[in-house]
Amino acid sequence: MKRRKFIGRTLAGGAVAGAGLSSIEPGSALAYSRRKEVVIREQGKYDILLKGGHVIDPGNNINSPMDVAITEGKIAVVGKNLPANDAKRTIDVSGLYVSPGFIDIHIHAFYTFKFEYYNYRWIIPDDFSFPYGVTTNVDAGSSGVYNFDKFKEIIDSSVSRLLAFINISAPGMDANENEPATFKIALIQQKIRKYQDLIVGIKTAHYGPGIPYDDIHTPWASVDAAVRAGELAGLPVMFDYSARPAQGKWPERTYRELILEHGRPGDIHTHFLSKTPYVENGKPSEDLYKARDRGFIFDLGHGGGSFRWEVAVPVVMEGKFYPDSISTDLHSHNTSNGKVLNMANVMSKCLALRMPLEEVIRCSTVNPAREINRPELGSMKVGNTADIAVFEVLNKEIDYIDARGGKMSGDKEIHNIMTLFGGEVAFDPWGLNALFWQNMPVRRRRG
Ligand SMILES: [Zn+2]
Repeated sequence: MKRRKFIGRTLAGGAVAGAGLSSIEPGSALAYSRRKEVVIREQGKYDILLKGGHVIDPGNNINSPMDVAITEGKIAVVGKNLPANDAKRTIDVSGLYVSPGFIDIHIHAFYTFKFEYYNYRWIIPDDFSFPYGVTTNVDAGSSGVYNFDKFKEIIDSSVSRLLAFINISAPGMDANENEPATFKIALIQQKIRKYQDLIVGIKTAHYGPGIPYDDIHTPWASVDAAVRAGELAGLPVMFDYSARPAQGKWPERTYRELILEHGRPGDIHTHFLSKTPYVENGKPSEDLYKARDRGFIFDLGHGGGSFRWEVAVPVVMEGKFYPDSISTDLHSHNTSNGKVLNMANVMSKCLALRMPLEEVIRCSTVNPAREINRPELGSMKVGNTADIAVFEVLNKEIDYIDARGGKMSGDKEIHNIMTLFGGEVAFDPWGLNALFWQNMPVRRRRG
């Protein structure tokens, strides 16, 4: 019944469209099928004008109907009622949301390499980028100093932007993450200098489970080495970290120590919505607030085992402690079984947690850009690269699973419609930027 009501609204909106493009309310299901075709002109000071959409750009405090003009791959103007005559291509995006392209700071894309220990099969990032509004991905430590040059080949072959956290362990993500002898702090500095436009931070992961502590394998060896490397490079560290009980002379290793003592302001705890100690008496723990006050960052990092409703509901939904950033932790062992589908899917799960849409966009654009020190990304500031997601929010009864397979009911789904990358239309399956086929120039077949 909901959908029927919805389509009614859409049709009403469509009727209004002839009078004024900006009057369609965003969120209308199937609104995109009511577009006019793209208007093409010979001359115009803008290359592309996105007309009639509802802009959500938390980095610039915009959440209202606005047009977006693009020139030479960059944002030229964001403003109300920009004249269509000023653009070479005017694309009708009425009824749709327009936001900066999404930034996913936790994926695994080192897909040419065979890792015996984790037996991961990595993803091809382009397959999960433009179709879901993502324009920038960050690989989270799949490679280390021994193989970052190899990973660079994948970065170079990617169409969407691919950046990286480099693993503190030189061979990257494998059993050696447990071996302090592989933590090559000096070599990492060299690699960061060589690839300073690509490496955005240091990653440490999977340190501890299954190995006993000794004088070399100390409880904090991995975290402290990564922080040292981060200090020397002036870059943040992303922690995939678990608490561990006391062993012999070694005391318990807690979350509190990570987020209040060992981690620095600007360092990032990914997977935090899977950690039950962050729930106290059905609410977010005091430690979470204290850590946020000192500038420590909390990233969602859904993954195959790292997002649990039993933590996310009391922390986010009732406690209103939102993640700083939303990320997927995509690898083939969670995409192939459906635990995570893509960035838009994880963002939709956050809507099910009653995060306002503007906050979900903030956590997928300007916040992750800030976390990786890329202010030129994640907002539609004039002069920024024109990476843009055009999407709708479908109102529908829909259930979502967490990483344990438990489900929760939601009533919204983010559905990406069109993606622009560097000012070019990079994804447009419904033809917002297209002419109807009858109007296309005739092209004769040779022969
Ligand atoms: Zn990961």
